[in-house]
Amino acid sequence: MKGQTFQRWIFYLALAIALWSTAACHWKAFRQDACTSIKIVDRPIIFDSTRARLTIEYMKSHYGMDVDRPTIQPKMIVVHWTAIPDLERSFAAFDPVFLPSSRSKIRHAGALNVSAHYLIDRDGTIYRLLPDTIMARHVIGLNHAAIGIENVGDASHPLTEDQLRANACLIRQLVQKYPIEYLLGHHEYTRFIGHPLWKELDTSYLTYKVDPGDAFMEALRSKLHDLTFQPLPTPASLPKPTIDETQSTPPSQNAGLAKIVWHSDSVHFGTVQHGEVRHHTYRFTNVGTAPLKIEMVSACDCAEIDYPKHLIAPGESGAIRLTFYSARRKPGHVRVEIDVIANTEPFLHTLILEADVLPQ
Ligand SMILES: [Zn+2]
Repeated sequence: MKGQTFQRWIFYLALAIALWSTAACHWKAFRQDACTSIKIVDRPIIFDSTRARLTIEYMKSHYGMDVDRPTIQPKMIVVHWTAIPDLERSFAAFDPVFLPSSRSKIRHAGALNVSAHYLIDRDGTIYRLLPDTIMARHVIGLNHAAIGIENVGDASHPLTEDQLRANACLIRQLVQKYPIEYLLGHHEYTRFIGHPLWKELDTSYLTYKVDPGDAFMEALRSKLHDLTFQPLPTPASLPKPTIDETQSTPPSQNAGLAKIVWHSDSVHFGTVQHGEVRHHTYRFTNVGTAPLKIEMVSACDCAEIDYPKHLIAPGESGAIRLTFYSARRKPGHVRVEIDVIANTEPFLHTLILEADVLPQ
């Protein structure tokens, strides 16, 4: 009898340990998947007036887009690996403005160097190389609508669990900011040939890609199963091309130039209680000779932005209103760069928001 009671105790103890470790394991997985710790490190590649010019030229010669700014309206996210298993060398491949002569296979298609908007290291650290709404050269035919995420790795250095989680969290953040319709791996890009988003004019310009592979995309899509993306096109599902696919955007009608002078381009809220909501207005005047059009403003998910959508006449003033939600940031020092894109030269302006968020 005594032996039976002892065995029963051992059984209950083992059961309790098993349940506890299962729960702990699930909790850990839940915490890791919850994107609570997503941090994006700004590490911009060179984007000077030469790269801007080469990008505009690329948009014209490959897509027939007659634009005066190298901006995109993101509709898709393309995931890559860098084919270089090291962060610094991967960054160094994207940083220069001109494509190196070693890339002879794609050099005939333009001198603009390849790049992407994000680069994710093997430990899951996310680096932002370019604003989301600037065009990067990373996927033939689709650059004009595609945000590129590069991952440090190659076929013999498969992408890591940390990279998988970071991709999922970053994509969750991007779909909240932009009307993203498609998520694809670079190796899937040729499925868009003939799709209305496919704009490549040079039919001979195609490369065979294997990155990042079906296994990674399957794992990524299963992590994002609650998001609704369009299914990737199949040749049978493609609509017939229409004439305006290759029609260019009308060029700017203003002979003069708009010019922004900021009354103040940064704000420091000082100490802010976690959960507090703060407001700020960045004021500016158009001191140029043509009407000013603010085309796009992008910040973080911790801020909401309201900006004038109408043309601002020369001499007139305007305001960009910001609402900062400190609850959406971890306590500590917060510094956010807000990208403003306008029909000015240069087209990109950066506003700063800073705050010291107190612990709860
Ligand atoms: Zn790629």
